[in-house]
Amino acid sequence: MTNLILYNTLTRKKEQFKPLNPPFVGLYVCGPTVYGDAHLGHARPAITFDLLFRYLQYLNYKVRYVRNITDVGHLENDADSGEDKIVKKAKLEQLEPMEIVQRYTDRYHHHMEQLNVLKPSIEPRASGHIIEQQQFVQRILDRGYAYEINGSVYFDVEKYHKQYHYGRLSGRVLEDLHTQTRALEGQEEKRNPYDFALWKKADANHLMHWPSPWSEGFPGWHLECSTMSTKYLGTPFDIHGGGMDLLFPHHECEIAQSTAADGHEAVKLWMHNNMITINGQKMGKSLGNFITLDELFTGNHRLLQQAYNPMTVRFFILQAHYRSTVDFSNEALQSAEKGLARLMKAWDILPGLTPGEPGEFDVTSWKQRCFEALDDDLNTPVMIARLFEAVRAINLAGEGKASFSASALTELVSLFDLFAGQLLGLQKPEKERSQNDRTTELIEMVLQLRLEAKRKNDYATADRLRDELTRLGVTVKDKKDGYDWEWDS
Ligand code: ZN
Repeated sequence: MTNLILYNTLTRKKEQFKPLNPPFVGLYVCGPTVYGDAHLGHARPAITFDLLFRYLQYLNYKVRYVRNITDVGHLENDADSGEDKIVKKAKLEQLEPMEIVQRYTDRYHHHMEQLNVLKPSIEPRASGHIIEQQQFVQRILDRGYAYEINGSVYFDVEKYHKQYHYGRLSGRVLEDLHTQTRALEGQEEKRNPYDFALWKKADANHLMHWPSPWSEGFPGWHLECSTMSTKYLGTPFDIHGGGMDLLFPHHECEIAQSTAADGHEAVKLWMHNNMITINGQKMGKSLGNFITLDELFTGNHRLLQQAYNPMTVRFFILQAHYRSTVDFSNEALQSAEKGLARLMKAWDILPGLTPGEPGEFDVTSWKQRCFEALDDDLNTPVMIARLFEAVRAINLAGEGKASFSASALTELVSLFDLFAGQLLGLQKPEKERSQNDRTTELIEMVLQLRLEAKRKNDYATADRLRDELTRLGVTVKDKKDGYDWEWDS
């Protein structure tokens, strides 16, 4: 039993997290549609649910984390008409659709690795689950909540709404949707404009299609997540996550599909991360403020004053609570960069601090307050504020103005690794760490040996070790209770 409390978008309440089948936890998160480079909007859900995945595992749950790859059926205007985005890109670049899928899946994985996002347990693709999706459609048809027309199958929202509640998650009202849904091309055959496609008959231009009982065609976008989540996690399962932009229609339709097929909802807890804005504006291709992760990491975009390290981006995203909006600007990123550098520096000097008298910083209560922040719906801004309390204490100790007892210091070293490294997923710069840290450790080791030699009155060895260090450019200053050292300038 843990104290983890999570906000459920469906009940609009914070709830004590209780797995349906402990110690197992099923987590499903909507992944990317792979027809282009991952952008800022992809980084936030990836990092948010990476933190949840890491924390649940730390709490000793056996988490099966499923994050899908949408490689078929995502139409341009999300309204069952228009062109498949992947097919459009494939035509543009004269490639097979699956070449596009492979290229951008590989790139997505690379960018996730740069952000230190852990791999999910299963990463299913929509195109690999066509049969399961057709079976799902059949179950909905059998229960009477879908209709077939001209080889396409649509979900009957009105009929469903008479029995259940369409709009429960998003709070949309069906009567309003009727007038709000734009009359789009290809909508005529639906009974109502808000009905959505479960299966679409492919037209001559459509490159990705499969045989089915209804037509040579392809599945509707919402169907893959209902199908793959329940295939791998069972029904009901614990947590379904995604960006708030997916709340409607995608997740509302998922709820309707699962409920129509099985008579009950598939998801116990819905979690949604809020959106990212850029200089206060929504991100969009037409607004010219669309920034990919690659552009962000290389600084290659007219809105960027510099390149930003992936860890700066991760830290910046975690500085906000996942249910708040985050506004990207150069100023905000630069200030995150400075903050992260301070945190990294303290993390770096922490293991080398010399223990002393117990100081004012209470590691036990600090640890408690760090966990309280995480348990409170993954409150990372508070968690990071706590880390900076420790940073101040570490810096004071580094300047000799405060100290930790030996046991407090040992505990703080391992807790800082846990909170900053293992849970928030922040990484020290790899090259600098391996070079500098190893050299520092070697020098410290030699100086410890020298201290031991001196204690045994073996001054010949002590002097020889000091002379060797001097030769290598390390100046050693003996102090009453130990030593100090620095590189020759
Ligand atoms: Zn989805």
